[in-house]
Amino acid sequence: MVKSISLLGSTGSIGTQTLDAARRLGIGISALTANRDYKLLAQQIIEFEPELACIRDSAYLDDLRALLPKGCKTILLTGDEGMIESARVRSADICVTAVVGAAGIRPTYAAIMAGKRIGLANKETLVAAGDLIMNAANRMKSEIIPVDSEHSAIFQCLMGENNKDISKLVLTASGGPFRGYNSKQLESVSLEEALKHPNWSMGSKITIDSASMMNKGFEVIEAGHLFNMDVSSVEVLVHPQSIVHSMVKFNDGSIKAQLGVPDMHIPIQLALTYPDRMPSATDFPDLTSAALTFEQPDLKTFRCLDLAYKCYAVGGTSCAIMNAANEIAVSALLNKRIPFVAIPEVIENTLEHIPSVKVVDLDTVEEADMNARVYSSRYIEEKFN
Ligand code: MG
Repeated sequence: MVKSISLLGSTGSIGTQTLDAARRLGIGISALTANRDYKLLAQQIIEFEPELACIRDSAYLDDLRALLPKGCKTILLTGDEGMIESARVRSADICVTAVVGAAGIRPTYAAIMAGKRIGLANKETLVAAGDLIMNAANRMKSEIIPVDSEHSAIFQCLMGENNKDISKLVLTASGGPFRGYNSKQLESVSLEEALKHPNWSMGSKITIDSASMMNKGFEVIEAGHLFNMDVSSVEVLVHPQSIVHSMVKFNDGSIKAQLGVPDMHIPIQLALTYPDRMPSATDFPDLTSAALTFEQPDLKTFRCLDLAYKCYAVGGTSCAIMNAANEIAVSALLNKRIPFVAIPEVIENTLEHIPSVKVVDLDTVEEADMNARVYSSRYIEEKFN
């Protein structure tokens, strides 16, 4: 079990659940970071007394300081530099990357270069910079333990196995609130409907990504990088009950699956305790209560999943471009500026206009990310205002 955590994104859904696990298992906290939620961050600093804490948006630094008691020893930081310092704080042996968005990439890289275990919950890291990150992790012998339920399931299925014996990875997908809809029906869905995930309670960005199946597309790409598989060997099956979290098909015809209730506490805890397992507060699923069903995903209606397969095949910066355009599109949807079906349209147009180039370093990734953001924002401005 790890001794102390650097937790990036401590006020979000994965962040607060990581702190639940730390509290229950008696693991220390070396650093906490938040984007703007200074009130919750202040409570967490008071409870866990980390060495460092970072409020990324420096406009909230004074508000944060005002909520802390006089003798508080925690050093307060801001900005991307503060995130990076927090990620590589010496006293932590794991960095849990629970921030949303491309802002998570550099701090994750910094933690890898400091040789820490990574509890990987930030999707963008592998989607946008997968080759760079995996190469750095191999070089630094930094273990990447996935926190996402699907990748944790595959990680668990592969314990004690050899990669050469894998035939296919099978990611399960709930199908989200619009499972079974056709393209026509998708045209009239509301933001409120898109925000109602049937099984999982998550932040708003990932809930929208689940409804569009962009999230599953990201997970296909992440799985390719994490388990060193060609993406044509990563399949997706829609499994509405979200009990089977993913599977591995082996060359001898065997399939291994990992099952559990849809509760992120299990994969979060495993990233902290691996290679051990510890008792948790989560119960087993009741396997007699519902039939487990599986169906093929509809790539024609859920075009974001199809776009992800295509971008991975193209390689270079195309996945970073797709990710950035999606972030802009989702935030426009959340602000009710574009309809739900416009998400793949924004991504596709951005991919057509920003050429994919070879990734040589994180600067290449960030430049592609920035160009894609500028282009997709302008596209939305012109087309939907
Ligand atoms: Mg997932």
